Amino acid sequence: MQSRKRLYSVIISVIVLLGFLATSLIGYFVARDSIAERLQQEMLPLTSDNIYSEIQRDLLQPVLISSLMANDTFAIDWVAKGEQDPKQMQRYLAQIQDKYETITAFFVSEKSRLYYHPDGIIKKVSEAEPADQWYFRAREMNQDYEINIDQDTADRSRLSIFVNYRVENKQGEFIGLIGVGLSMESVVQLIENYQRRYGREIYFVNRQGDVMLQSSQYSDELHIQNKEGLDKLFTRILTTPSASVSFEAKNGNVIYLNSRMVPEFDWFLIVEQVNDPASEKVEAALWINILVSLAISIVVLFIAHLALRGYQGRLETMATRDKLTGAASRQVFDSLFDQALAKSRRHQQPLSLALIDIDHFKQVNDNHGHHHGDEVLEAVARIIKLHIRKEDVLCRWGGEEFLVMFSDCDEAHAMQRIEAIRLAISAWTFHFDDTRLTVTVSAGLSELAAGETMTSLIERADKALYLAKGAGRNCIKLAE
Ligand code: GH3
Ligand code: MG
Ligand code: MG
Repeated sequence: MQSRKRLYSVIISVIVLLGFLATSLIGYFVARDSIAERLQQEMLPLTSDNIYSEIQRDLLQPVLISSLMANDTFAIDWVAKGEQDPKQMQRYLAQIQDKYETITAFFVSEKSRLYYHPDGIIKKVSEAEPADQWYFRAREMNQDYEINIDQDTADRSRLSIFVNYRVENKQGEFIGLIGVGLSMESVVQLIENYQRRYGREIYFVNRQGDVMLQSSQYSDELHIQNKEGLDKLFTRILTTPSASVSFEAKNGNVIYLNSRMVPEFDWFLIVEQVNDPASEKVEAALWINILVSLAISIVVLFIAHLALRGYQGRLETMATRDKLTGAASRQVFDSLFDQALAKSRRHQQPLSLALIDIDHFKQVNDNHGHHHGDEVLEAVARIIKLHIRKEDVLCRWGGEEFLVMFSDCDEAHAMQRIEAIRLAISAWTFHFDDTRLTVTVSAGLSELAAGETMTSLIERADKALYLAKGAGRNCIKLAE
């Protein structure tokens, strides 16, 4: 019975817990997936769009300045006059540099191959020189200008963005490249601003996957192929104009990555984000959910347990106790007797038994009503209980007949106790309405003989009771 109850409790607990856990987890995964999707489909592309448009805005002005220079008659006329006074060109470039706050302004003449700079003639570009290849590439281009990120010819330690604009004379002949250079610092600052604001890693890679431009905090691999988790994905990033991927980094974090081609640089802009901050909230919500579920389950199970226990206790009392007097019911006497018998045998103790019957009880019912009869029964049981020990057993044997089992008690001592009970009952006065009533009891007493059964012991007590009734009632007889 007990183990069955435990099994049911365990099954109910498991079902309740699994139910809560399942709903919590489903909610968690749905929320997490939708966040990851939003991050990949909306938030990262938006960041990269913003950065791209800011870069374009930053580049627009130098392109305009360079276009202005290329279409200015000054350079065309000056070349047509045979590049006579280099100071003139130098002053012109210095003027542009000051006015527009660019880091450099330059003109390379096709005819003389001289590189003019606000500081003067810096060098002569040569096809054999690798550092001058930009000039020979740009002079062949089909469009009016290109944006080139390169080391500054005037300061080779510095990486700059150059606008190389083609200059043509009135006949449409190519006469050189003119333009301005600006610092990469503004782009780096842009990257760092965005990193700070959105907690995302932002950097540029070229078509080969080499990291070309990064924030000062960037500390990862300088070739994306070497990045943990990207080894299988990097070709996809480098072969499509834009890509959205996610991969697992070496520390187990899932990283979402968005890439897009920036044609002005011929580089890919990469925006990476380790978990979305929202997903941490979702995770916290999951734990709170689980804890609340656990708490609710425990409370529910505890209440269920209490209810079950109370219900079971009531059922047990109903089955084992007489409702009116609270004495043990006849149904459980067998097992109570067996326990007492085993104890008496083990300790070689005597065991006595008395049957007590109320005298002329029928008259009580007849004269005072069944209701008052019940009160008499209750009072008699109460008086008996007051005179017996805890280890003795009081049992309601029949309508107005009680059985008392005295453990570790011989006939003589049992007789004393029953006598005390008999006297106490006869001394009790009932007040029913205007009448007074006293009742008496008769009793038969027997002591367990060696090897005797319960049936025989009770039978002997019953016979003694019969004798007591025959002897005029209100007395006790010993069994033979
Ligand atoms: P005697 O002295 O020979 O024992 O006479 P008696 O009237 O007590 O004997 P009898 O056995 O004839 O009557 C017992 C009565 O007890 C009959 C029955 O109606 C009544 N009785 C049995 N159970 C209950 C009960 O729970 N409540 C009440 N009020 N009466 C009960
Ligand atoms: Mg009676
Ligand atoms: Mg009777």
